[in-house]
Amino acid sequence: MITLALSKGRIFDETLPLLKAAGIEVLDDPDQTRKLILATNQPEVRVVLVRATDVPTYVQYGGADLGITGLDTLIEHGSDGLYQPLDLQIAKCRVSVAVREGYDYAAAVRQGARLRVATKYVAIAREFFAAKGVHVDLIKLYGSMELAPLTGLADAIVDLVSTGNTLKANHLVEVERIMDISSRLVVNQAALKLKREPIRKIIDAFGKALGQP
Ligand code: AMP
Repeated sequence: MITLALSKGRIFDETLPLLKAAGIEVLDDPDQTRKLILATNQPEVRVVLVRATDVPTYVQYGGADLGITGLDTLIEHGSDGLYQPLDLQIAKCRVSVAVREGYDYAAAVRQGARLRVATKYVAIAREFFAAKGVHVDLIKLYGSMELAPLTGLADAIVDLVSTGNTLKANHLVEVERIMDISSRLVVNQAALKLKREPIRKIIDAFGKALGQP
């Protein structure tokens, strides 16, 4: 049995065409079922639905052989024990710094002010501001980061931005782009040894669908 860990939403939806290219069709629609284990048209392949941030954990400890997860999640989690053969070029976005409209971020940085930064992406933010030599107090949040500068909880946020509409709707502006994000295929290293042939087949089909040699 080959188990693939996916999260519901954008990653699941954008993975379907790649699975199809590998001859795999998921038999249930995750929005129509409460099942967490979904069968596919291939009896030896199943999909497990987990939270996006749990995908690397499932694959690392062998709860799934493969998984698809954003680079942001992978950096925050660490990639011990994970083989990362492919950038799938899906669920693209960026990690950026944003502040309230009217907040002079450039001046605050220039003056060496100590910034309060709210984020879910503590590792990415810590590394970014350390490289810039900016002192920050990081405040870990699990969601609705946009609220932090509006309520005075933080001076800035580090969050995912795609179209920029969420920032705009909350009167925030993007002041720095930290990194581009896309989703990666991750594979359990032991599974790759033990189930080499079927896993290779999936990796190769995905690679071919992406136009990679
Ligand atoms: P947008 O308004 O298009 O800039 O999207 C920003 C919101 O969507 C933020 O709340 C992000 O956390 C979330 N978001 C954008 N892109 C992604 C992605 N690829 N994966 C997960 N969340 C995302």
